[in-house]
Amino acid sequence: MLEIIIPTIWTCLAVYSMWYFTSAKQYAPLTPQEAKILWKIHQKRSGCKSKKMRKIKHKDTLIGFQCSCGYRYIKKQPIVLKYPKIQPEN
Ligand SMILES: [Zn+2]
Repeated sequence: MLEIIIPTIWTCLAVYSMWYFTSAKQYAPLTPQEAKILWKIHQKRSGCKSKKMRKIKHKDTLIGFQCSCGYRYIKKQPIVLKYPKIQPEN
């Protein structure tokens, strides 16, 4: 019986941790310049001829853009890479 239960538990754990690390992401702020550059890169890479892009905001913070061809870019960063910001003391 144990031979069946233990591998099952491990599989569940592995799946869970994979899900956690891939889905537990936070939006990262993007600067308008970055958005423009990334849009240009997208256009070059895909040969996209769109003249418009829409900025995607999350709580007043620019986090990505959507090209009028349907391409969407959202900057995300995994929570595990997020460190608290250290404010310089005056
Ligand atoms: Zn496009």
